[in-house]
Amino acid sequence: MKAAFSDLHRGHDPKRFVLRGKFAPGEERPERADRLAAGLQAGRHSLHPAESFGQGPRLGVHSVDYLRFLEEAAEEWKLLADASDEVLGNVHPVRRGGTLPTSLTGRAGWYMQDMACGIGPGTWAAAAAATDVAITAAEFVIEGERAAYALCRPPGHHAYRDAAGGHCFINNTAVAAQYLRSVHDRVAVLDIDIHHGNGTQDIFYDRPDVLTVSVHADPNRFYPFFWGHAHERGAGAGEGFNLNLPIPHGADDAAYVAAIEQSARTIAAFDPGVLVIALGLDASADDPFGGAKVTAGGFRAAGAAIARMGLPTLFVQEGGYLSDNLGPNLTAVLGGFEATA
Ligand SMILES: [Zn+2]
Repeated sequence: MKAAFSDLHRGHDPKRFVLRGKFAPGEERPERADRLAAGLQAGRHSLHPAESFGQGPRLGVHSVDYLRFLEEAAEEWKLLADASDEVLGNVHPVRRGGTLPTSLTGRAGWYMQDMACGIGPGTWAAAAAATDVAITAAEFVIEGERAAYALCRPPGHHAYRDAAGGHCFINNTAVAAQYLRSVHDRVAVLDIDIHHGNGTQDIFYDRPDVLTVSVHADPNRFYPFFWGHAHERGAGAGEGFNLNLPIPHGADDAAYVAAIEQSARTIAAFDPGVLVIALGLDASADDPFGGAKVTAGGFRAAGAAIARMGLPTLFVQEGGYLSDNLGPNLTAVLGGFEATA
């Protein structure tokens, strides 16, 4: 299938995030994209450079002030006395309301919900390019391709309308889903990253025109902890249009694929014009985050289950971290999809 990419991701190379109270080396590294590209080549998919679509698609789901913060924060951060090379918030208005301050340290806390989303000098260009990658691939589907793949880096599904988190800055999946709404009355999002797609859920939570479904490890013991529970069903006009299917920590192929197959009934009843897959590969047994134990065979079966939904499909890359099987697992998902009518 056609796959879109951009080399601008390389400028985003976060050096650290906070894990159990310690600085840990960044896991969301440029090498991820090289391994994913190798997985595309192994599957004989064609790679196409992203076109630029400007700020418009991003503004479809993000606030102007948040996008401005992402664009300007790294330059402004350098002016602070004794600052590090990455913007990281360390004071947050947790569940207390509050007012957006003028201080950059204050704004960083306001717009960054955890300490796994450091902003460096190349972060804005990379994150903006990732949305262009997603829209370029969405255009392939609009033009009539059965499916297309977007090699997005950094990922996006933990990003809210106005907040970064969990290695995510701009929600590529949500931007693409909103863009596809200009063509289809109803768009379904199925997130199969092992972490709940909390940002995507929140962006569409009160809307009946975008169905959000997420298969992920039980958040009681796994990031993003506070969201992704089965009782979260949407609100207002969107009530009933959000479905969470948490699976046990350490789930195997059978549990993972069964949850994806279960989601097919809800998606079919919604009758969308197009399906957006938030394609995380971190359910892998080899992933450093250790949320599940899915093998290449499980990923191939997941791709086949998605194909049986019978919808035009846009795959948007989310998580999935460095291991020897990162590329092969991408080959497996897309191969399973293409081999299934
Ligand atoms: Zn993930």
